[in-house]
Amino acid sequence: MDLKYFEPKILTPKIKKYDVIVIGSGPSGSTAARILAQHSFSVAIIEKCKIPRYKPCGGGIVWKARKLLENRLEGIIENEFSNVEINLFQQALSFHVERNFPLITMVMRDKLDFCLTEVAIKAGATLYTEHEVISMINNSNKITLETSADKFECKYLIGADGVNSRIAKLAGWKESRTVAPALEYEIETDTKTFNRLSYQPRFDIEYLPQGYAWVFPKKKHFSVGLMAIRAPAKGLHYYFQNYLADIGISNIISQTGQGWFIPVSPRKNGFFKNNIMLIGDAAGLADPVTGEGITNAILSGKIAAEAIIGSGASNTAGGIYQDELNTQMLKGLKTARTLAKLLYLSKWLRKKVFEKHGQQLCEIVADIFSGEKRYPIYLVRTLNKFF
Ligand SMILES: Cc1cc2nc3c(=O)[nH]c(=O)nc-3n(C[C@H](O)[C@H](O)[C@H](O)COP(=O)(O)OP(=O)(O)OC[C@H]3O[C@@H](n4cnc5c(N)ncnc54)[C@H](O)[C@@H]3O)c2cc1C
Repeated sequence: MDLKYFEPKILTPKIKKYDVIVIGSGPSGSTAARILAQHSFSVAIIEKCKIPRYKPCGGGIVWKARKLLENRLEGIIENEFSNVEINLFQQALSFHVERNFPLITMVMRDKLDFCLTEVAIKAGATLYTEHEVISMINNSNKITLETSADKFECKYLIGADGVNSRIAKLAGWKESRTVAPALEYEIETDTKTFNRLSYQPRFDIEYLPQGYAWVFPKKKHFSVGLMAIRAPAKGLHYYFQNYLADIGISNIISQTGQGWFIPVSPRKNGFFKNNIMLIGDAAGLADPVTGEGITNAILSGKIAAEAIIGSGASNTAGGIYQDELNTQMLKGLKTARTLAKLLYLSKWLRKKVFEKHGQQLCEIVADIFSGEKRYPIYLVRTLNKFF
């Protein structure tokens, strides 16, 4: 796929007016913009970067996210795997799960986000790149935005601007999410090492305190990363270097990457204020167990768009969005948060549970990421069996 940069729009002093403005062209923002444009709303996506841009992310699309994306991954799939390896590194316990469909599909985020934004533009949305939101005035029926380039006005504003959401800060949300530090590197190695490690993705739980490490094989390189639900005292880079050595990635031809954060608990102080809604990482919707955030980014974008449409473009959209999030997502995330604490915080408990029920647990996680089971019903029942 040939990625051409979108040209920035020519600047004019006039205020640009839209029904809905979406800040951020990640998977949450592009989904919301596409659906609204398909329903004849005038929509702008405002993005601070020139796109395509690198996003620190494993680029692992679990099966339930892939189903939501329908055929939009065509041409950008790096690899797909129906089998996954999950290790408890210090206990030398290893589990394998397999399905007859791709449990996890590998993409690069610059291409994924570019593709999804292109679909939103084809549906009628207007994209403004290299426009960073700087300030905002929120009156009851009109939101005015100043960006590093133009000024904008809209009735609804969707904050899809990721974990460091400027929109949340400008609109007055106090921080209430837990954010997990993470590292992601794109690593090119020699053919022998690539062939040895590229037949399946691996997850190494307890490689570092309160977290896990992963290797995601792409077409010609590995995305290697780690996350911890609490920052380890020695820092992530220390564990990252040891991890590469321990799994035998020593002959590194090239390596690029960076640290970032994954929000692993939703905001406690609501997801809308008047006609401003937060979606995806800005709302704190990544999965607390794995940090997988693309599914809920897409889903929350869809729910927010449908709330605006379903409200008949009235001021009830925010309330509808919050109710739907609650029904479709928040209860599951609450259970997942409890599970993540059990999994990462007690080594003793983890050992006991995995020794006895490790395979069963890995199968459940695979079912959840396939969309065949949901957290609340299944895990609460299973947890009761253990304790
Ligand atoms: C190291 C790491 C590995 C991960 N691996 C996976 C994985 O393998 N699979 C998975 O499902 N999830 C993974 N995640 C989580 C996933 O990346 C996020 O949950 C997902 O990107 C959230 O999408 P989003 O659309 O909400 O936000 P983002 O993808 O972060 O998009 C936000 C956009 O907003 C723009 N923006 C920010 N501020 C402004 C501003 N002021 N003005 C204008 N634009 C702005 C940004 O430039 C960006 O394009 C990982 C996360 C990390 C950190």
